[in-house]
Amino acid sequence: MKKLIIAIDGFSSCGKSTFAKLIAAKLGYIFIDTGAMYRSVTLYAMEHGAIENGIVDEEKLIGMLDQIEITFRFNRLREASDVYVNGEIAENKIRTIEISNCVSAVASIRQVREKLVRMQQQMGIKRGIVMDGRDIGTVVFPDADIKLYMTADPQIRAERRYRELLEKGDTVSFDEVLSNVISRDHADMNRSISPLRKADDAIVLDNSGMTLEDEIDWFMKLFEKHQN
Ligand code: C5P
Repeated sequence: MKKLIIAIDGFSSCGKSTFAKLIAAKLGYIFIDTGAMYRSVTLYAMEHGAIENGIVDEEKLIGMLDQIEITFRFNRLREASDVYVNGEIAENKIRTIEISNCVSAVASIRQVREKLVRMQQQMGIKRGIVMDGRDIGTVVFPDADIKLYMTADPQIRAERRYRELLEKGDTVSFDEVLSNVISRDHADMNRSISPLRKADDAIVLDNSGMTLEDEIDWFMKLFEKHQN
């Protein structure tokens, strides 16, 4: 069977990673959550004084980039890869509201994007990969075989993310989560480098009224067409 590159872009919290992880497992492909990579850089910057009180010191952060090593290791329990920063697991630490509030500013720095895009392209060299993010179909793999652009109503997305954070034991208000979702969408779509936009050849998947099962069924039909 032909090994494909599947690029999934879209708005914050619309279930891209959950969907991407499942289709990768179904196809026996590698799954890479590129948001986890931008979150990891943000975590390192926070822990090393390049972000203070929510303000990113760009120059300091750029000076640290060479010290940040991001790797993924498969976790059998989660059936997905955990992200590691300089050999230390970061999977839980990167999913807090504090990181979410600063990550879009970090992701708008050219040097950060150049480093991470290079790594992502390297990961896809053997194909057979599902990668999700904001610029996968436009910048990382402009020649991807299948490009999806996922979206859903902001209220629904914020509810999903709010439930996730509560289940993890975070104390956060719904309004804070909704405002983070809306402001990240705005920042991601309006930055000057690699803004979030639908690639011309991407297929839109609005999953507002769909179950995960519906999404997978829909995708598998699309995938079969690309096998011929
Ligand atoms: O996907 P997730 O919500 O975890 O991504 C966190 C943030 O990382 C996004 O809001 C965006 O600012 C940034 N990002 C990006 N390009 C990607 C993936 C994520 O700019 N390919």
